[in-house]
Amino acid sequence: MKLASSLGPSNAKRARSLAATLIYVSLVVGCERSIPVELDAYQLPLTEQQPKSQPNDRAVKSQLVVPTSNILRATSAVVDVHTHFFVKGKHDPELLKQYVEMMDRNHIAISVSLDGTLFSRLDEHCKFLWSEYRDRFVVFANIDFRETGTAEMPETWACNQPGFVRRIVEKLKESASQGQISGLKFFKDFGLRYRNADGSLIAIDDPRWDPIWEACGELGLPVIMHSADPGAFFEAVTPSNERFGELNVHPDWSFAGPQFPTRKELHDARNRVIAKHTTTTFIAAHFGNDAENLVELTQWLELYPNLVVEFASRINELGRQPYSSKRFFEKYQDRILFGTDGPWPEARLRLYWRFLETYDESFPYSEKVPPPQGDWRIYGIGLDAAILEKIYHTNAARIIPGIRERLGKYKSVSQ
Ligand SMILES: [Zn+2]
Repeated sequence: MKLASSLGPSNAKRARSLAATLIYVSLVVGCERSIPVELDAYQLPLTEQQPKSQPNDRAVKSQLVVPTSNILRATSAVVDVHTHFFVKGKHDPELLKQYVEMMDRNHIAISVSLDGTLFSRLDEHCKFLWSEYRDRFVVFANIDFRETGTAEMPETWACNQPGFVRRIVEKLKESASQGQISGLKFFKDFGLRYRNADGSLIAIDDPRWDPIWEACGELGLPVIMHSADPGAFFEAVTPSNERFGELNVHPDWSFAGPQFPTRKELHDARNRVIAKHTTTTFIAAHFGNDAENLVELTQWLELYPNLVVEFASRINELGRQPYSSKRFFEKYQDRILFGTDGPWPEARLRLYWRFLETYDESFPYSEKVPPPQGDWRIYGIGLDAAILEKIYHTNAARIIPGIRERLGKYKSVSQ
């Protein structure tokens, strides 16, 4: 009210329409951030509150009647290669206990936590997961590029000090020999936020990281890389952006603009690393952040025999192109790993089983309303049991150290 009444009559109309836009945006994106009080309290005429076209309106009730499956657990033992038990679980033992019970119910044998930060959190993380459940978790290391450096002064960051890479490589060797780590994770900040001493962005394919890739190859540690992000995150945040709602809630997820490298530049830099270090296995997280373009992802898999992919948080993309996805899963059944980016609620996990195992049509990919990663529904791809078994665990057992033994124990007790 204050906003409109403090302006002249002509500006008041503009303010009303701004208020309508903001309220509309907050409704369609789920309103995880509160909107200004003045706008919240402003009473709009009904016509302005309800624009004719509401692209994200989940209040629309579908009249489609189709068979619905109710799959409560995966058909065979699952290895979830992409979870975060510190980033999302914050080392809460009660949450961990509940999650393991959920793993049991859903047929998840092993979760791979990617949160073992070298030097600072690795020991604590292993202890947290392994005190009670050593056979149900393996840990990937990750690298803290800043350590005790000051955020705004990249010249003080650990990665810009002499001997950084040597120190990382030695720690990887030590942790691997102790059986603490099963791989190495790189976050998307590598390429998008980590900086050189002069303030420029660190290049993924800077040769100074070569000893790290080489060491992982020698130690048999796969490297899981999250590079770039969905295509929509690199385009202007306008109503025609297919992830408009989500980017409004999380403006920091947008990498549109000249201050960021392009998505192609990031993909190309990552691909040059994969091409150069042929004895290292690279796991492209989130289907290489190219699940929207399986034609391109196919080209990468054809070019790089040391590349495998996992599809955490991408059933939204895969399920909207069920024919292409099914063909892709059939063709690359030996190079796809199962991942979720959890821990998620059980309702979310069940949607993964439903997507992979059924031919259900037009169902949500998330339990959240509105759907968090694009406003559309998905379709199941009904994979055969033999393919499911490879994706659920056989491929992970071949690629990730520590899985095979644990899987053997799990199978012997769960049968
Ligand atoms: Zn993740």
